[in-house]
Amino acid sequence: MILEIKSILKSYNPREGNVIDSIDLRIKKGAIVSLLGESGSGKTTLARLIAGLEVPDGGEMILDGNVVANHSILVPPQRREVGMVFQDYALFPHMTVLENVGYGIAQSTEKKDRIEQVLNLVGLQDFGYRFPHQLSGGQQQRVALARALAPSPKVLLLDEPFSNLDTSLKRQLRAEIFQIIRKSGVTAIFLTHDTQDAMAVSDKIIVLQNGRIIQEGTAKELYESPVNPYIANLFGPIVKFSAEDLTQFSFEGDPSKTYAIRQHNFEVNPAKKTPYTIEVSIEKSTYLGDIYLNQATLSNKKTILFTSSLKCEDQIRLGFSAHSLLIFK
Ligand code: ADP
Repeated sequence: MILEIKSILKSYNPREGNVIDSIDLRIKKGAIVSLLGESGSGKTTLARLIAGLEVPDGGEMILDGNVVANHSILVPPQRREVGMVFQDYALFPHMTVLENVGYGIAQSTEKKDRIEQVLNLVGLQDFGYRFPHQLSGGQQQRVALARALAPSPKVLLLDEPFSNLDTSLKRQLRAEIFQIIRKSGVTAIFLTHDTQDAMAVSDKIIVLQNGRIIQEGTAKELYESPVNPYIANLFGPIVKFSAEDLTQFSFEGDPSKTYAIRQHNFEVNPAKKTPYTIEVSIEKSTYLGDIYLNQATLSNKKTILFTSSLKCEDQIRLGFSAHSLLIFK
């Protein structure tokens, strides 16, 4: 393990409770891990604790086999070998690319080679004498990455690095940046509120809510077996059902459980083999390009939204298969 976090606690103001509430985490060397959570869930605070920019109120942190924080030890940021890439790149505007990238490397005979090596890695070997304002946003992002990688950090933290970009540029840059990270072999922790970003780049996703980890796993594990409706909904809109709601589809549920179906997993006028169906009137069928978003109301007044590839007629049979039912305690 390159990083082990044990029962870490942090509060900024004791009256407001813990912002990081007993987090345990183990990250393997070379892994790319996403910390996924909405704004205020504690991502930045956890990253700052790892970097040594915040002092924990309790717990222990071990980086590459050495304790960097516990009740008696606190290793300062500059001795942790943790790199950071920020949302706004934070390049030094009056320094060239070469100077920016060399900033965090100690003077030595290898310094020049190392700068050249990381500039090659990010594909900017011909841009060394430019200033940040002479580069595109994507190039600046790569300089920021090169600067963070230059001192060979043990862990690289990336705090929402794509949140300022529009979607098409973001997808391309995201692919480029994570290809470089993968190639460099560094262990990376990527902070994001965007589930798609987390799914696209990481080996493991850790979902944070109110300073706690509520689930961790691969994208597939979280998508297929979310532990609660909140997590299910992060991976695409769901419709929640009680066991009683489901009796209308002729499904015998367990009243102690909650159920959900993803909006795209309903079947319109399904073949006989879909066992659970109901007749519904369509109140609205909205064209959204690839799909239609439809609205219907069950006889107990519950409104459901679901998608279909074709426009729905006024009256349809709506069904689902048992395998698309998500079940929660
Ligand atoms: P995220 O990065 O997921 O948006 P943060 O770690 O920034 O979450 O914030 C978690 C909580 O801690 C929020 O409620 C935020 O208001 C609070 N917080 C963050 N930084 C400070 C600070 N320096 N002083 C007081 N409260 C803070």
